Amino acid sequence: MKGGSRPVRPKTSIGFRAGRIAADGWSKLRPLRPTGKPASAVSTQPQGPSVVPRDPRLVDGPWTDLDGEAVLRAQRDAARLARESSRHSPGQVLLGRPAAELRALVSALGAPAYRAAQLRDGVLAGARSLEEVRGLPAALRAALRGAGVRTGRSTPRGAVTARDGTAKLLLQLADGRVVECVGIPEGPRLTVCVSSQVGCPMRCTFCATGKGGFARNLLPHEILDQVLAVGEHFGRRPSNVVFMGMGEPMLNLPSVLAALRALREDLGMGARHLTLSTVGVPGTLRQLAARRLQVTLAVSLHAPTQELRERIVPSARVYPLQALMADCTKYFEVSGRRVSFEYTLMAGVNDQPQHAIELTRLLRQHRSMRCHVNLIPWNAVDDAGAWMMGAWGFKSPSREAVEIFKSILEERRVPVSVRITRGLEAAAACGQLRNMYQKTPLQEFEVPA
Ligand code: SF4
Repeated sequence: MKGGSRPVRPKTSIGFRAGRIAADGWSKLRPLRPTGKPASAVSTQPQGPSVVPRDPRLVDGPWTDLDGEAVLRAQRDAARLARESSRHSPGQVLLGRPAAELRALVSALGAPAYRAAQLRDGVLAGARSLEEVRGLPAALRAALRGAGVRTGRSTPRGAVTARDGTAKLLLQLADGRVVECVGIPEGPRLTVCVSSQVGCPMRCTFCATGKGGFARNLLPHEILDQVLAVGEHFGRRPSNVVFMGMGEPMLNLPSVLAALRALREDLGMGARHLTLSTVGVPGTLRQLAARRLQVTLAVSLHAPTQELRERIVPSARVYPLQALMADCTKYFEVSGRRVSFEYTLMAGVNDQPQHAIELTRLLRQHRSMRCHVNLIPWNAVDDAGAWMMGAWGFKSPSREAVEIFKSILEERRVPVSVRITRGLEAAAACGQLRNMYQKTPLQEFEVPA
């Protein structure tokens, strides 16, 4: 964390975000790399690091104190990770490490400073192990290995590709946990949707990840690794990164801030090409604003009233809509950045003209904030979607309902757009691919040295 973002002390519990949908066109799971063991050697018992069940005491329905405790645990875990990674603990990784730390590392091993840049460039160029970093003297390689240094790359475990070219990758981390990330090609752009946690404690009603449990926060290099993995999958450099995958990024702010630093400094991505999406975690928007990072803030709103939002987003109970909007306004005042509100339209739930009118009223109450509304028609059409619809009764809105909703906002001069459903929304079933491994756990895994 040195030389970049300072660890942030989380203040409170709660939060939530949603808005992912399912679309058709996903190909069957395609293993990218065999584990080196025959399938029969892999246990099919539902246990192992890839399985993250929800605490049975945490049930669907209104937010409870137990949920608050689970969220607090996640925040404490994030603070602990930040402390440990700033202490240069053994098992340290090269990926995403600030230049000053890399220089200190090679210097401690008796190597000249330029070797630090060589290590960084080698890992960013795709080296998955120390052996693959080109031009490294054998003595330094051995010393790094002896010091327990790893590249920090994950093991790709599978991928699914949507008809529109969007691809979701499943990556296995050093401790066997699995996370998903998504690559969305769009002309010259390649957007990467990254996860920030293994599982999520937020329990958003229409999110596959929220149906499971929370295991741990991701480290900065584990976030950066997803961006590299998607770049490698598509054979080109990612242009944008959105934190909309598994997990609530604001619960893991120290790692997320460190990853943002690395994305800017190591991968050369402009802050305006980076988007943080959140359902809202009290206290964190002000912390983010204070950083003046110029990243885009996307707030998952999904409802214009407290009552409806609580039904869709249980954690809204402890972060009331008006408090969230006040924090968004503050974020705009401090950062000068327009806030993007994500609103997933679900038939008969939040897509009626009355909801659009209420939404404009809400935004008018906070008119000093420049904002934009992103309407995302719920589009559950694959297996996971069907399951989700069956479980929660969500249905896609009609095209007419989407148009009416949009026109009501436009008439009242609210900047609005409708997001074309792509594989990202398909993936909405964020957690869908990973959930396969809840049933058939990955017990064999390799850690790139
Ligand atoms: S990952 Fe967590 S915060 Fe994001 S939508 Fe799912 S449950 Fe909500």
